[in-house]
Amino acid sequence: MQPMYDLTTRDIQYLQGVGPQRAALLAKELGIGSMHDLLYNFPYKYVDRSRLYYIHEIDGNMPYIQLKGKILRYETVGTGRKMRLVAHFTDGTGVIDLVWFNGAKFIPKSYPVGVEYIVFGKPTMFGDRINVAHPDIDKASELSLSSMGLQPYYNTTERMKRSGLNSNAMQKIVGNLFALLERMPIAETLPAPFVQEHHLMPLPEALHAIHFPKEPEQLRRAQYRLKFEELFYVQLSILRYCKDRRRKYRGLCFTKVGELFNEFYAKKLPFELTGAQKRVIREMRHDMNSGRQMNRLLQGDVGSGKTLVALMTSLIAIGNGYQACIMAPTEILAEQHYATLSSMLEGLPVRVALLTGSVKGKRRKEVLEGLLTGDIHLLVATHAVLEDTVQFSALGFVVIDEQHRFGVAQRAKLWSKNAYAPHVLVMTATPIPRTLAMTLYGDLDVSIIDELPPGRKPIQTIHQYGNRQAQLYQFMAGQIAEGRQVYVVYPLIKESEKIDLKNLEEGYTQVCEAFPHCQVSMVHGKMKPAEKDAEMQRFLRRETQIMVATTVIEVGVNVPNASVMVIENAERFGLSQLHQLRGRVGRGADQSYCILVTSVKLSEESKKRLEIMVRTNDGFEIAEADLKLRGPGDLEGTQQSGIAFDLKIANIARDGQLLGHVRSIAERITDEDPDGSRPESAVMWQQLERLRKTNVNWSAIS
Ligand code: ADP
Ligand code: MG
Repeated sequence: MQPMYDLTTRDIQYLQGVGPQRAALLAKELGIGSMHDLLYNFPYKYVDRSRLYYIHEIDGNMPYIQLKGKILRYETVGTGRKMRLVAHFTDGTGVIDLVWFNGAKFIPKSYPVGVEYIVFGKPTMFGDRINVAHPDIDKASELSLSSMGLQPYYNTTERMKRSGLNSNAMQKIVGNLFALLERMPIAETLPAPFVQEHHLMPLPEALHAIHFPKEPEQLRRAQYRLKFEELFYVQLSILRYCKDRRRKYRGLCFTKVGELFNEFYAKKLPFELTGAQKRVIREMRHDMNSGRQMNRLLQGDVGSGKTLVALMTSLIAIGNGYQACIMAPTEILAEQHYATLSSMLEGLPVRVALLTGSVKGKRRKEVLEGLLTGDIHLLVATHAVLEDTVQFSALGFVVIDEQHRFGVAQRAKLWSKNAYAPHVLVMTATPIPRTLAMTLYGDLDVSIIDELPPGRKPIQTIHQYGNRQAQLYQFMAGQIAEGRQVYVVYPLIKESEKIDLKNLEEGYTQVCEAFPHCQVSMVHGKMKPAEKDAEMQRFLRRETQIMVATTVIEVGVNVPNASVMVIENAERFGLSQLHQLRGRVGRGADQSYCILVTSVKLSEESKKRLEIMVRTNDGFEIAEADLKLRGPGDLEGTQQSGIAFDLKIANIARDGQLLGHVRSIAERITDEDPDGSRPESAVMWQQLERLRKTNVNWSAIS
């Protein structure tokens, strides 16, 4: 057995080429403090330096070039701040200019004319000449290209560069670390038989190759090994957590469907359930009587009728003598759910209550008491329910609606207030691509509503440039004349809150002037909840025809008579946000429209987003596209769940297949060795413990 060196406790300042100043800089700029951090600070790209180009084959679009030739002569061009040193360089097939904006004195001395050099850098066109600014230059006699291979590039910041810590310097430091590691070998983090079985490169070799790859195939194998391990431990951690939880919490058994459910079904149900709704209710009914705590994710596109599913499953819980709670992300949505559910349940012996931040004083006290005595059967709430003062008499079922922000840790908080764990249903209309769900919601079973209620016409989506407002207003007027209502949505983000609010208010004024015979509502996040609610209610009661708003209406709001969604500055919204907003229309039987208004100048990425929106209404397709376009780090609502973004090398968007593969391996291991007692797996469980200790987000779920 090799001795283990814990590199996480070894300060990099003692490494050759670092010292206290650079160590402080590395810690501040990149969060690199220990030798372990440095070892796992992988290059972000590699450039193949085994190949030479000829000057006559270069164009200004190539990312990098490498040439072999001589400097003909030096020349100083321009004056003052524009002064630069130019070297005319030839390889016999043409001439290019090497350019320096400083260093005019020492460069000609360091690189005399007439010597053969290897020159490396990024070409740009300057007039009809090719320029390479601040190139890397080596004497051809001193550089062996075959040993150069792939050159790694490390992330650096401006401040680092100013202290001489550029990518090359980083590479040197990493080289010094490896020299040290010859005396302190890196320990393998996976069991040896496992490494063999899955044809993985041993860890020490992989870590070396990721920093100093000799050729592309070696690099690929090193990357595969490190991605494999990274994804594997995340999955193992999640699966292990699920198993532990299952052991700790027995599930409540709802043995019957109950009177309430049957009565609702027979007397109150306003329409036939879709096949998908029926199937999903059946799945949950089974879960709730299995003796295991249900943890289910229900994905269903906007408008697919998830609320009804939540209500009917709540009735099963209540019918079995327990309380149910439906949690919404905003007050508006909670209030709307409360109103919808109360009216649907009218005449049934179910007491429904609302608890949000605005429920205060006497009303709040009543609700809290009702929950404690069990008088209240169904609570509709916001995050306010998480407060310690909120206690239930017998909470048996929790629905978390539209909360992709609600990670494993927060869910755990919900049942920690109970002596036993309630069944949990998480509902979302922002479909999460399968690969991401495995990591984010790896502990949840998944149900899908893949069917919309009958009679819905697909929403027509149109992309329009902002300079055609007259046409847009004419179209809106036509729809309003037919009795429909219209949303006009403006972006509002924290960073540009003031300007955004101004845009919104100007938009409101414009709309009021353009539609003098209409009533116009305005809602934004800066308003008091009561005002917001009053405006929403006016729109809902059709007292106003146009609703000018920010994304506060994004999630869940249901006004079936609204048929047009105009989104101003649509290029500023993310794909899933656009899809959510679009989902606010098309909820009735009428043809609905979504109009994406943008400026004429658009980035390539914005164009792609808009094209996708126009092409498809399928939320899953959109979610996949979103993940590909933006990467998981930016994917809406996933920020707080952490795990996906601590990944150093794997990428959930691109490594979906590998993720599926390692998940099945992790499943097999937790099935075969549930207590982690097999000696051959000891290395694995130790590593998992170490990761959970050192990684904040991981410890949050364990
Ligand atoms: P979401 O899945 O987006 O939360 P909602 O639950 O708000 O969707 O439902 C959207 C609309 O569809 C509501 O007006 C609801 O009453 C209606 N609805 C739900 N289920 C059905 C059904 N089976 N048949 C017809 N309409 C339905
Ligand atoms: Mg909903």
